[in-house]
Amino acid sequence: MDKYCAPPYRIKMVEPIKRSTRQEREKYLSDAHNNLFLLPSDAVYIDLLTDSGTGAMSHFQWSAMMQGDEAYAGSRSFYRFEKSVRDICGYAYVIPVHQGRGAEQVLLPVLTKRKGMVFISNMHFDTTRAHVELAGAHAVDCVTGACFHIDEYHPFKGNMDVDRCREHIKKYGASNVAGIIMTVTNNSAGGQPVSMENLRAVRDLAKAHHIPLIIDGARYAENAAFIKQRESAFRHMSIREIAREMFGCADIFLMSAKKDGLVNIGGFIAIRDNEELFRSCQVRTVAYEGFPTYGGLAGRDLEAVAVGLQEGLEPDYLEHRLDQVRYLTEHLRDAGIPVQYPAGGHAVFVDCKRICPHIPYDRFPAQAVCNALYLEAGVRGVEVGSLLIGRDPESGENIESPFEWMRLSLPRRSYTYAHLELVADAVRAVYEKRETLRGLVFEYEPPVLRHFTARLKYE
Ligand SMILES: *Cc1c(COP(=O)(O)O)cnc(C)c1O
Repeated sequence: MDKYCAPPYRIKMVEPIKRSTRQEREKYLSDAHNNLFLLPSDAVYIDLLTDSGTGAMSHFQWSAMMQGDEAYAGSRSFYRFEKSVRDICGYAYVIPVHQGRGAEQVLLPVLTKRKGMVFISNMHFDTTRAHVELAGAHAVDCVTGACFHIDEYHPFKGNMDVDRCREHIKKYGASNVAGIIMTVTNNSAGGQPVSMENLRAVRDLAKAHHIPLIIDGARYAENAAFIKQRESAFRHMSIREIAREMFGCADIFLMSAKKDGLVNIGGFIAIRDNEELFRSCQVRTVAYEGFPTYGGLAGRDLEAVAVGLQEGLEPDYLEHRLDQVRYLTEHLRDAGIPVQYPAGGHAVFVDCKRICPHIPYDRFPAQAVCNALYLEAGVRGVEVGSLLIGRDPESGENIESPFEWMRLSLPRRSYTYAHLELVADAVRAVYEKRETLRGLVFEYEPPVLRHFTARLKYE
């Protein structure tokens, strides 16, 4: 097995985390109605719920924050932020927003010129899909079939199926396609990367039909690092150059800076050259996010993003980042546990349908595994499966998700390999007793976004 890269940083400030006994965790989980979202974070030892906004900032970021300019308009911090974003993508126009979904609520309705238009994506992220639908458009996913064969190696399981995308453009008519959204890396497919070859093919298709191409680039730097590792034509380019090349394919870049921006809050919209689109987005930003030079962020937050974006592209940082995810993936795979392979960029996706074939989809097998992992070692993962997907709005029936994932997301620069070894041991222990796990039913089911606040009980 290849070696894993040691952290390119040392620890200067620590945040204590608390271990607990199994007996304590049983009480915490029952008080949380068997829903890990309802746990106080103090009841969690290792928190792999999400990699969004949970990373550690550098001393450069913290010191930049002290220089935040809190002017309502024309803040110095905005200009530093704008310069940093322009530096990575080369686009002319930059609008800050409070986080990724802020960018979605500003941009997507501007692109949706009429009700009933469609957005085509390799895979819409949940909030992106929600904002497409709120704008009165439909969301269509065309991810490559390779991402459904979890045991088979494919270097770019996040790719768009270009033929299917072309068929959809034909079916709806190019003038009814409001935009093509490339999610890089493809979050919902397991943090899987998109190749440059694929991005270019999608660009050619979008150009030929005059459809705007949007990069939903929360994890664009991880994607660029994968291109360097796995796409031979780019081996000799720097990650920065590869990122520029990626943005060269698109017209608009949306970013949740809570991921590769290495901050706890923030995001932006960047637009290559369409001034009219920029003006329309500015108008909506004032109404929904804030004046266009702060967009819902404090001046100090803008400073942290300006620095974090640059650090997020550093090759040593990215090598260690991807190695941490690979470490946990390979340790689980070596133990015979079914996981999305090869490793993605930010999380390990464990296939709980295969671990618990005795639990039907509407008894939420992945939730059963997540809860068992919490009881085992105080590790919090998250269910991405039939509990999350919810019910068919027409029939009211539970929808069966194609996957029942337990997602273990790794916060950036936060945990050590020793923590991950503990996680791997705990998953193995749960796997040993998989036949004893039981499914769950609702004690209370909220009407929307049920997974966040549902109360569950064991059958
Ligand atoms: C996180 C994320 C978003 C939404 O961003 P928030 O900052 O959580 O609002 C959108 N798209 C992708 C791909 C994401 O990972």
